[in-house]
Amino acid sequence: MPLPEPAGWELTVAATNSVTPRMRRIELSSPALARFEYLPGQDIALAFSKDDGTSVRRRYTIRRFDRKRASLTIDVLMHGDGPGMRWAQSVRPGVSIDAIGPRGKITLVDNAEWHLFAGDATAVPGAFAMIETLPDDVPAHALLLVDGPEERQPFTANGALRTIAWRYEMSQPAESSGLVSAVAAADLPGGRGHAYLAGEVALVSALKTALLNRGWNADQISAKAYWNRGRANAGHGEPELRAS
Ligand SMILES: Cc1cc2nc3c(=O)[nH]c(=O)nc-3n(C[C@H](O)[C@H](O)[C@H](O)COP(=O)(O)OP(=O)(O)OC[C@H]3O[C@@H](n4cnc5c(N)ncnc54)[C@H](O)[C@@H]3O)c2cc1C
Repeated sequence: MPLPEPAGWELTVAATNSVTPRMRRIELSSPALARFEYLPGQDIALAFSKDDGTSVRRRYTIRRFDRKRASLTIDVLMHGDGPGMRWAQSVRPGVSIDAIGPRGKITLVDNAEWHLFAGDATAVPGAFAMIETLPDDVPAHALLLVDGPEERQPFTANGALRTIAWRYEMSQPAESSGLVSAVAAADLPGGRGHAYLAGEVALVSALKTALLNRGWNADQISAKAYWNRGRANAGHGEPELRAS
């Protein structure tokens, strides 16, 4: 399916609340969103103005879209200290924000018998958005790294075919965390699977290597780095791939 064309939107914050202690949910609305089209897994880029008159963009995966309400919801992790996190922490209903979207090329592939999702807390909105749109009989398994048990999100689509395994952040670097070894050793279904990897640069790279080492082909893996530890994302919203 061709990807929907991105467009500019002037959105208004309709509601904010906390999904977990560190995950802030923000509903953005505009009557114009009644004609918004996107594919699950895609994101929206928000533009934050700086004091010098320039702006910086940060991208957030669309957690839900509600055409009747003409609104979309994003979940923003409260970690680090950058323009995206600061905005999400302090913003209140009624505030407007410029957005461009939908963005992103990763969405569910249609040639897989089952789907695997792995990443850190920033990967949770995309993983859940994609799993929710799969037909009930298509297996989907997610392995997700969050700070601790209080950061687990309730997920109603659980069943034998749907598993969500939470792993918790340890003090060591994320790439050596239990998530990579859990993916390397996971008991996975047979048949052609497709993996969606997202999160910190080094973690995504280590997860991809773990799957390649298990014999997966590169074309079975959709990987996207969302952020880089210790280094702010660039002004257009992409992580800088070189570590500082
Ligand atoms: C395609 C795409 C989709 C994304 N979807 C989501 C999403 O659904 N939800 C979401 O929360 N984020 C998502 N992100 C990440 C998001 O765009 C920002 O990178 C993130 O919010 C940090 O932006 P910032 O301006 O607060 O920090 P920056 O100015 O980019 O960075 C400031 C500092 O914070 C650190 N930092 C940034 N992120 C984290 C983190 N997660 N944990 C610890 N330290 C961090 C950086 O290393 C840096 O030192 C996505 C990114 C991309 C590219």
